[in-house]
Amino acid sequence: MKLRNTPAAVAAVALLALTATACGGGSDSGSNGDKITVGIKFDQPGLGLKTPDGKYVGFDVDVARYVAKELGYTEDKINFKQAPSAERENLIKNGDVKFIVASYSINDKRKKEVDFAGPYFLAHQDLLVRADDTSITKVEDLNSKKLCSVTGSTSAQNVRDKLAPDADLQQLGGYSECLTGLQNKRVDALTTDDSILAGYASQKEHQGKFKLAGLRMSDENYGIGLKKGDDELRGKINKALEKMVSDGTWEKLVKEHFGPSGYKYEPAPKVQG
Ligand code: GLU
Repeated sequence: MKLRNTPAAVAAVALLALTATACGGGSDSGSNGDKITVGIKFDQPGLGLKTPDGKYVGFDVDVARYVAKELGYTEDKINFKQAPSAERENLIKNGDVKFIVASYSINDKRKKEVDFAGPYFLAHQDLLVRADDTSITKVEDLNSKKLCSVTGSTSAQNVRDKLAPDADLQQLGGYSECLTGLQNKRVDALTTDDSILAGYASQKEHQGKFKLAGLRMSDENYGIGLKKGDDELRGKINKALEKMVSDGTWEKLVKEHFGPSGYKYEPAPKVQG
């Protein structure tokens, strides 16, 4: 039977192509056809921010774009999804995102549920207080204070487990909510990574209102979270991260995103194979 060039053959080929696109990547892996979904923060200036006009900006966002490009996805093929601290593991496990780049510290507890590529950045837990506050200068001062952090973060966990177990700790959904509490004097301090706090302190509307305590209370190695056991993806992302450092992009991006806040970033950590 001669199929070539008959209308039926053309239709059959078109149908095949359609089916292949619909199935590509699978719906449970954060990719659908030729698009991928990537988790980022929406309310952390300098790292991951959704602007009022719907743009996504920040260091993590650009790291996500770089990695996606290395995986074969151009900018227009990326769908950004908000990944609040407490939801990151579930978003990955449910296949809602392909990977997450969201100030996501690598630790053993999380590694039981997800895998990490990286690290690609090193931050330290610190405190943000009101500019006129002189009562908090060391970690122990927190035990008599109202402190705000975010549910599901290492910042909150560290306070409860070791830093200041007696502090009155409020846990909210995002750091920007804590910032409002700090401004309104409902809390005395906001604690999370210095990289995040520096971004808030330097926002135009906050200038002169807050200061960082400068206490390096932990090491936070940021990794890219992905589905547990997906060694192929982890290997590809690690390769992309290594390239990002060696081709100078990492340095360019940290300067661009942390330069304006004056945040003194650490050198690029070594990616762990
Ligand atoms: N890096 C810390 C963490 O992964 C704090 C920042 C955050 O909550 O995203 O929990």
